[in-house]
Amino acid sequence: MTVFQKSKKLFHDSTKVIPGGVNSPVRAFRAVGSNPIFIDKAKGPYLYDVDGNRYIDYCLSWGPMILGHAHAEVLGNVRKVMAKGTSFGIPTELETQLAEMIVQAIGSIEKVRLVSSGTEAVMTAIRLARGCTGRDKIIKFIGCYHGHVDHMLVQAGSGATTLGAPSSPGVPKDFTKHTVLLPYNDPEGIEKAFNKYQDQIAAVIVEPIAGNMGVVPPQKDFLKTIRKLCTKNGSILIFDEVITGFRIKYGSVQDIFSVKADLTCLGKIIGGGFPIGACGGKAELMNQLAPTGQIYQAGTLSGNPVCVAAGIATLNLLKTKGLYPALEAATKTLCEGIHQVLLERNIEHTINPIGSMFTVFFNPGPVTDYDSAIKSDTQAYARFHHGMLKEGIYLPPSQFEACFVSTQHKQRDIDRTVKAVRAAR
Ligand SMILES: *Cc1c(COP(=O)(O)O)cnc(C)c1O
Repeated sequence: MTVFQKSKKLFHDSTKVIPGGVNSPVRAFRAVGSNPIFIDKAKGPYLYDVDGNRYIDYCLSWGPMILGHAHAEVLGNVRKVMAKGTSFGIPTELETQLAEMIVQAIGSIEKVRLVSSGTEAVMTAIRLARGCTGRDKIIKFIGCYHGHVDHMLVQAGSGATTLGAPSSPGVPKDFTKHTVLLPYNDPEGIEKAFNKYQDQIAAVIVEPIAGNMGVVPPQKDFLKTIRKLCTKNGSILIFDEVITGFRIKYGSVQDIFSVKADLTCLGKIIGGGFPIGACGGKAELMNQLAPTGQIYQAGTLSGNPVCVAAGIATLNLLKTKGLYPALEAATKTLCEGIHQVLLERNIEHTINPIGSMFTVFFNPGPVTDYDSAIKSDTQAYARFHHGMLKEGIYLPPSQFEACFVSTQHKQRDIDRTVKAVRAAR
């Protein structure tokens, strides 16, 4: 029997001093109607909680741990660098090294600025787009998440083209009135929005593979239509690749979909489990940032050697030949296994896999946008999550999140996971 006694006690304590007991809301497990587990340590594909339970981890800290937890080479590089001091607030050669790796890996990036989170990367990209175009409006897609930036925290109204109303108290309406919300995977909606707002649109921001309403890949022509309309109207195309950067292939998914972004936001994997973000693009755009340009952006710990060392080590390891095809193959095997069991049980489901990310939607599907995603049976997901947890499998504690596979998930882990689906109650 799986016991969660110590986790329960620690959660009780944390709620007294931390809002909701957590430092990021989904971690509270409310979306699956239970209490969070508290983690003691992790290694490779495994998490170990404070009650001594071991889990095969498919959340991977929400994506960064593509090499598995506590990778010896990543930690080794961090230790080596850390011993020489952790932050100087003055340039180091390491920053140039990581920037060069990013520039070499992503064709549309000539210059890149490092920040400390994905949220900051998006903030930077949006300010840059507005500053360079002298326009205010941003097109955002319903169900895409771009960090907790004020003007990106907007809810869908009904209707296709809705001007944003804030989805969080504390965000002034004036901040979000320039955010235009559109459904994902709807090229026509984008055409209409451009017809309506034409020369007012500073930028379109999109997750090229949506990962924050569960995994929803882009359909044919969706990204190409956005690219075409941005070019035609002088708007900046921002790809939020905080999840997809170095997740699907070494570099960006822009190569896969043959679409180039003007600005690309990165985070998660490029920090190898340390806080990081990055915003990059053409030199002419990036040079508009201070100190070369007028658009202000800064950060005390930006590009600090510890995070950068973890990022460099991670990217170097990701260059290993055959790594991405192996990740994809493992994910495919896993998804087929899960599908088979759910099929035998007559449980309605749709699995959206791409590369090493996937979501099991409790929904007959297809799941192509937010509207179809939210038709999922979230209670069925909650039961699935809890059942799997008791079988030693950790899935993200919400239906609307991506599952991730790491290079440390071996065949035995995949087999064990499918067995767990069979055993889960
Ligand atoms: C995680 C995420 C962010 C925010 O990154 P933080 O490091 O959590 O601030 C932004 N965009 C996307 C697509 C993300 O998945």
